[in-house]
Amino acid sequence: MRRPRRRIFAAFVFLSAIAAAGRAQDDVTSRIAGAALTRGGASAFLETLTDTVGGRVTGSPEARAASELILAALKEAGYANAHFEEYPLEARWKRGPAGGRIVSPIERPIVVGSYGWVPGTPGEITAPLVDLGAPVSSDAMPPAERVRGVAVLVDPQKVGSDPSFVMRSRLAKALASAGAAAMLIPSDKPGRMLYTSAFGFYPKAPLPVISVAKEDALLLRRLLAKGPVKLSLDVRNTFDTGPHTERNVVVDLPGGALADEVVLLGAHFDSWDPAQGANDDGSGVAAVLEAARILKSLRVTPRRTIRFAFFSGEEEACLGSRAYVVRHEKELDRLRTVLIMDEGAQAPIGFRIQGRADLQAAVAQRLAPVAALGASSVLLEASFDEDHAPFVVVGVPAFTLWVEPGEYDSLHHTVIDTFDKIDPRMLAVDTAVMATAAWSFADAPEPVGPRLSEAAVEALMQRSGVASTHAMVYGASPR
Ligand SMILES: [Zn+2]
Repeated sequence: MRRPRRRIFAAFVFLSAIAAAGRAQDDVTSRIAGAALTRGGASAFLETLTDTVGGRVTGSPEARAASELILAALKEAGYANAHFEEYPLEARWKRGPAGGRIVSPIERPIVVGSYGWVPGTPGEITAPLVDLGAPVSSDAMPPAERVRGVAVLVDPQKVGSDPSFVMRSRLAKALASAGAAAMLIPSDKPGRMLYTSAFGFYPKAPLPVISVAKEDALLLRRLLAKGPVKLSLDVRNTFDTGPHTERNVVVDLPGGALADEVVLLGAHFDSWDPAQGANDDGSGVAAVLEAARILKSLRVTPRRTIRFAFFSGEEEACLGSRAYVVRHEKELDRLRTVLIMDEGAQAPIGFRIQGRADLQAAVAQRLAPVAALGASSVLLEASFDEDHAPFVVVGVPAFTLWVEPGEYDSLHHTVIDTFDKIDPRMLAVDTAVMATAAWSFADAPEPVGPRLSEAAVEALMQRSGVASTHAMVYGASPR
């Protein structure tokens, strides 16, 4: 009798222990999500970042001020280990005034603005305009005599799996070597708004690349249909080739039993200058910063260390996250998961797992605690234009928060990416998802999956359609 009774008792104690552990887990995730939903910390920080610092071009005094604001907030939250990690910057770039006019067959100003990390014109220039439409290859350039000295209007488009920004970069090179005076790209934004970007242009584009308001591009094309058109362009950007440094801000919430393993939560604090970089990616920075503050304030210890990284240089070519990977090369085998937020503060759906089909089930299991927030879907889709990319290149499981598109596309890299566009409710939910997911990945008994070998990464990038962007960003040094 005694033995069986003892066995039953032992089994009861064991099951109670499991139930208690489960309840403790539920309790931690509820407390994390509850704090995110009720404290309003992300929204408050974003308002300070956008209204006191504003737009934050990599290498600018504003980017520096943003890094200091983030560091101060982390220290104030009790993170004594919060620190800067500096890396060299090849050049600093400053936007100057940009003007454009039609000088023939009519006289009229047009709305133009420079892309980032592109040179200005050599003073005010007058050039004939040629329309190349939407080329399917940068090799099929018109004869050099048609392009030399002219302003070329062109619509870079996605061709096969090559995104339009890869085509844009290839066209800029081809047009510059044919002697074009400038490349003009019609903006796809509404309300005569312009677009800016430096992806594929850092450290210096080979010729002036200029955004033209959609309405003005349509006028130029109507005029070209009737005869020759001449433009005057005056763009005054400046480069300062340094030496310079930029920095990331990095902080750890130390783990328990598996403290030498790391789950990294990241976002980028650099942005474009025409607005406040509120959605891209101020919202990601605010969510990750608030996640760090919440986890600290709850005095919880996950199995693994949770590292919070605030990158710079994302808009140029993921400079900060690449620098992180180089600096922390020896720890990459112990970097178990990277979670990036950089699609804006819209309603969360789940995570994009960047082609890692082998991790689908494990990711879904770890996202169970955010199912009630509508954020547990797993999308296989891959991209290469957020800070997960340098981690994918070295085989680390790296995922991005997937959100509803909302107004993101019309705000993206324009003058209206401002604080008033952010819905504080959605930012709070995104914060809850990032913080809870960080906990879930960091506290799981097993890592989510293996780091891939060089050959497996190569195959993954081919299969998931990001190989051409990788080649554009990494050039001659593939890792
Ligand atoms: Zn971004």
